Amino acid sequence: MELKNKRVLVVGLGRSGLSAAMFLRDRGARVTVSDTRSATALAKEIPALMEAGIMVESGGHGLLTFRRQDLIVVSPGVPLETPEIAQAAAFGTAVIGELELASRFLDGSVIAITGSNGKTTTTTLTGKIFADAALPTLVGGNIGLPVIDLIAESRPETWSVLEVSSFQLETATTFKPRIAMVLNVTPDHLDRHKTFERYWEAKARITACQESEDFLILNAEDVNAQKMAAKTRAQIYWFSGRRQVKQGAFVHGESVFFLGKEGGKPEPVLPVSEIALKGAHNVENVLAAVCAARLAGIDAETIRAAVKGFRAVEHRLELVRVRNGVEFYNDSKATNVDATVKAVESFAGGIHLILGGKDKDSDYATLSALLKERVRVVYTIGSAAEKIERQLDGVVKIVQAGTLDKAVKLAAEAAVSDEIVLLAPACSSFDQFTNYEERGRVFRDVVLGLD
Ligand code: ADP
Repeated sequence: MELKNKRVLVVGLGRSGLSAAMFLRDRGARVTVSDTRSATALAKEIPALMEAGIMVESGGHGLLTFRRQDLIVVSPGVPLETPEIAQAAAFGTAVIGELELASRFLDGSVIAITGSNGKTTTTTLTGKIFADAALPTLVGGNIGLPVIDLIAESRPETWSVLEVSSFQLETATTFKPRIAMVLNVTPDHLDRHKTFERYWEAKARITACQESEDFLILNAEDVNAQKMAAKTRAQIYWFSGRRQVKQGAFVHGESVFFLGKEGGKPEPVLPVSEIALKGAHNVENVLAAVCAARLAGIDAETIRAAVKGFRAVEHRLELVRVRNGVEFYNDSKATNVDATVKAVESFAGGIHLILGGKDKDSDYATLSALLKERVRVVYTIGSAAEKIERQLDGVVKIVQAGTLDKAVKLAAEAAVSDEIVLLAPACSSFDQFTNYEERGRVFRDVVLGLD
């Protein structure tokens, strides 16, 4: 792809937008960036960009800025329906995202991991297995470094393990991972994608350009992941925590097995008891990672050792403290209903569950049966509280806590030995916090501050 003297507009000045702008400039493009935030809000970024010869438009998008560009690179946080973008696209301007741009320049093999939940955990674990196997490994994407920032270090022998979101995939047109994974597809981000079908279509782009030499790893227990099988030319490998699969990774009895070829003999990889992560969903994440590692030729012993030493990623069902026999878990990353289901399912019962935050058009009533079975009290916080209280009315005891601080303190007071206090809020955090990380840290600080 020739960028020299091309006029390129980068929309959205987040981390990946900034990296994209600098990369494009280094390749000789004439770069402009446009962001709706004010010049004051962008005070940190603007001087460096100006110095690099990049034009900056802040405080909104000007229609003229979007005209006569050769290429528009859209950040994952910016909707494609933004009128200026939609209009430029209608006039025939190419509109791509950072993942698509970066993947055109990235050397080596790509492992792309998507799903509504489990991406970060599985990406981190897969990266660890590959690195422990002494393969040249880079990890990035929706986690850590933007893909653009991996280009400089990538070589033909490199494995780039990429977490990719539906927003990044939405604008992918030639992206062709060597190994793609779809962990699950459950309703999420419907505020941005509008319908579940469009969200699913975006995720399915992960395999759209794969060919028969590539691999697609799918969750055999997730109907919406299964449906991707009809969309691919790649070789399909399955994973299941419940039953043997045709080819792929699965649990049988007390062990994880890998079956490399249909009709072949399954080989044992590791005992399930060596997985330090909590919950059946995390066993699924391990199975997906095992599958990718075996497909890349990593031996079972190396995989076993890497999995054994892998602990929960921060804010993902992370044990913060045991106090008077009560375990406190931080699952602040449970920002949708399905992640909350998985968190609750990880414990037999006696759960004090903190729910709420910013609603994403979710249906909390779907939690009813599970909460009835395993949750003693729900503590509601944030702007979604009223909706949650309405939808779960009569299902479970509800305490209106309002804030996270209050919820933790009330739950700590009520919980008795062997019970669980769980932050798995099923909502995003933006009504009361900067992001889910800050929410998780507040939870941890309040928990550690209890006497
Ligand atoms: P993502 O990057 O897709 O958001 P994370 O690994 O950060 O995934 O986990 C997000 C949330 O989903 C956490 O609350 C975590 O406990 C839960 N989770 C992790 N793996 C799975 C899975 N395979 N299925 C459902 N929920 C999961």
